[in-house]
Amino acid sequence: MNALLQCAKFGVPTDGAEIYVTHFPCLQCCKSLIQAGIKAVYYAEDYKNHPYALELFKQAGVKTEKVEAKGAIDVNGKQKRTLYSYC
Ligand SMILES: [Zn+2]
Repeated sequence: MNALLQCAKFGVPTDGAEIYVTHFPCLQCCKSLIQAGIKAVYYAEDYKNHPYALELFKQAGVKTEKVEAKGAIDVNGKQKRTLYSYC
């Protein structure tokens, strides 16, 4: 959600875009991503993957794919051991 709002604030188009997130989006974010025209969601961690969110993504033709967040670093350049998302 925060990523979408930042795009709205700075006038960055989201239609047809892909998004990389730390965790599988919640149902509310799922709806927002679909309405914003996001076409692919790449996520690192499962997070209570809501069955209805999965169904909505499928119906909307949004690709969802779990990817490995290998080598993620924090703002200090140190290797991250845990990823956090602000959903
Ligand atoms: Zn959310």
